[in-house]
Amino acid sequence: MAEKSSELFDKIVNLSKRRGIVFQSAEIYGGFRSTYDYGPIGVLMLRNVKDAWWRSMVQLRTDVVGLDASILSPPAVWEASGHLATFTDPLVDCKNCGARHREDKLDDPTQCPTCGVKGELTEPRDFNLMFKTHAGPVVDEGAVAYLRPETAQGMFINFSNVQVTSRKKPPFGIAQIGKSFRNEITPGNFVFRTREFEQMEMEFFVAPEEAEKWHEYWCQERLNWYIDHGMSKDNVCLREHTQDELSHYSSATYDVDFKFPWGWDELEGIAYRGDYDLTQHSEHSGKPLEYFDQVNNKRYRPHVIEPAAGATRTMMAFLMDAYHEEEVNGETRTVLRLHHRIAPYKIAVLPLSKKPDLQGKSQEVFTKLASQWMCDYDETQAIGKRYRRQDEIGTPYCVTVDFDTLEDNAVTVRERDTMEQVRLPIEELATWFAERLS
Ligand code: ATP
Repeated sequence: MAEKSSELFDKIVNLSKRRGIVFQSAEIYGGFRSTYDYGPIGVLMLRNVKDAWWRSMVQLRTDVVGLDASILSPPAVWEASGHLATFTDPLVDCKNCGARHREDKLDDPTQCPTCGVKGELTEPRDFNLMFKTHAGPVVDEGAVAYLRPETAQGMFINFSNVQVTSRKKPPFGIAQIGKSFRNEITPGNFVFRTREFEQMEMEFFVAPEEAEKWHEYWCQERLNWYIDHGMSKDNVCLREHTQDELSHYSSATYDVDFKFPWGWDELEGIAYRGDYDLTQHSEHSGKPLEYFDQVNNKRYRPHVIEPAAGATRTMMAFLMDAYHEEEVNGETRTVLRLHHRIAPYKIAVLPLSKKPDLQGKSQEVFTKLASQWMCDYDETQAIGKRYRRQDEIGTPYCVTVDFDTLEDNAVTVRERDTMEQVRLPIEELATWFAERLS
């Protein structure tokens, strides 16, 4: 089983490189550890993960609005949030081989997992994970700025701006997708833990007495999001944090965990943060971050439920969950059984041959479909090979334009998972796909 899992991990890394999903960053200079570039297929898939999240969290709801806050911020924000003091991991060094580890991730806290020697690890030191820089030309303490290690604080410090301008009342949420940066001690497992990554976070502000109810609601809602987007129920679950795992701001947290090749690990945390953040920023900024409930003539500080997911990590989980190999006519077919909303391309248009009149017709079909869906166009190699290439990147449908098309104005549509084919008039394609790709 373990062997099978690590095999899957290698297959995903290879597929990612071979098909332009994820590349090692600065590869021509030997690579820059723990940073990755998303290639032509990866950028589509990552964008689809983020769009699917935004659709569920913002577009389809009346109680959540969006925000895009800055990445650079002054120390005051991180002083108030508690990150300057407590956003640390326990760092240990091995005196034998020099390797560095996060003590809280070691199976045996006395043994170095790199060289295997016992009793040579130093006492843990708190290592702050925030990237520090300087804004402007003068490099002094007054110019210190930080790259955000989470997007959440942008939502808290804009609480009043957003609440007043959107005229929302609790319960309501602010959602944001964007890059975050953490100087991780032990990045690794491909894009699972990197120093630069993307998050999808939502802060949901509620009356204190309703917090528990909303926490339960969001845990269920977020677990269902992964399943509704095609993830196997056997590969995702909710897990409650133990007391010693809880962050400094949280009194209860559940994680959505995914069955990665190395075991169950976190995709998303759904934390009950109480009024910690709004209180901290009120006290440090001197601005009251509260809500005045006119109906009950009551002023209060809302409590917060936060579903915080990683976009890049989630994309990797979708790749692993969707990866299948099967025997077809004595050959191995690799297929990504991705939900159509996550699949990089929805449709591939494939002319049977490179004859100019077939190309012309195919371009016509492509232009028609591409105005509504992300489509690929491929005219190289034999048709069977092209189907396999599309299966491997999870394209749900292939449309083949053949010589009969020139006579009957119809095309063959092949479905990825069943490999079944149907013949459809070109003029019916848009309606047919609209029913299946919404
Ligand atoms: P961990 O315990 O794995 O370090 P965390 O509990 O500190 O993560 P959160 O602060 O809850 O993570 O961040 C929310 C989400 O952001 C995580 O569930 C994960 O999906 C994503 N995330 C956090 N750190 C990283 C990272 N270094 N690389 C990629 N994604 C990350």
